[in-house]
Amino acid sequence: MADITLKNITKQYGDGYRAVRDVNLDIADGEFVILVGPSGCGKSTLLRMIVGLEDITSGDMLIGGERVNEKAPRDRNLSMVFQNYALYPHLTVYENIAFPLRLAKFGDAEVDRRVHQASELLELDEHLQRKPANLSGGQRQRVAMGRAIVRQAQAFLFDEPLSNLDAKLRGQMRAEISRLQKRLGITTVYVTHDQIEAMTLGDRVAVLRKGELQQVATPRDLYTSP
Ligand code: ADP
Ligand code: ADP
Repeated sequence: MADITLKNITKQYGDGYRAVRDVNLDIADGEFVILVGPSGCGKSTLLRMIVGLEDITSGDMLIGGERVNEKAPRDRNLSMVFQNYALYPHLTVYENIAFPLRLAKFGDAEVDRRVHQASELLELDEHLQRKPANLSGGQRQRVAMGRAIVRQAQAFLFDEPLSNLDAKLRGQMRAEISRLQKRLGITTVYVTHDQIEAMTLGDRVAVLRKGELQQVATPRDLYTSP
């Protein structure tokens, strides 16, 4: 686990557009930070720079105190959970969760140990031999999170993970993500434009506007009118 520091982070795309402008943000070890702002304000760009999927034009990105600007995504040891939880339909829950460990060439015994540990935490242990098509939406989401946690990543990054779900499931998953994050104590950055998620999930909310960080505050300070 690790803290994440953004120092004067700027992203200028090839066409000259500055999507992220001089952003400074310290995210503490174990902290849950929500990133909000209107569409096009730079949330995804910022998240992708943290993960390493987007080059940083200027500034410094530190993870666990180490500068990672030039580090490849796989060497940053972060877990990204995307909007559509592309699970492999032909693989069992077990193999879906094991997938990143197989890729990283972990031995069978270690794969087995970690998959069981993750599936217990996520209450998926009774479903390990099932295929995604036979799971509920919530269970599928837990499989996706299982895949993120088996790698024992230093941080979780979520890009609007609940936006495709119906209201009821969204409520359940919100509670589940919150519970899991507290239980794991893992540093988390979570992009959303759902105000309920912003108000209930995070320790702090960072508000982006036209690429600039406008405000960083606790949900209480941000959403309670004086
Ligand atoms: P958000 O996630 O907040 O909706 P994005 O980070 O996706 O915002 O985009 C921020 C701005 O950068 C937008 O104006 C978008 O059009 C622009 N942008 C995103 N990706 C690219 C790209 N690859 N090339 C040029 N401009 C981009
Ligand atoms: P979202 O609103 O869900 O963040 P977008 O439609 O903004 O998604 O972006 C989807 C993809 O298109 C992203 O990979 C982004 O980098 C790319 N993109 C967005 N805006 C531009 C742009 N102006 N030029 C080139 N690519 C872009």
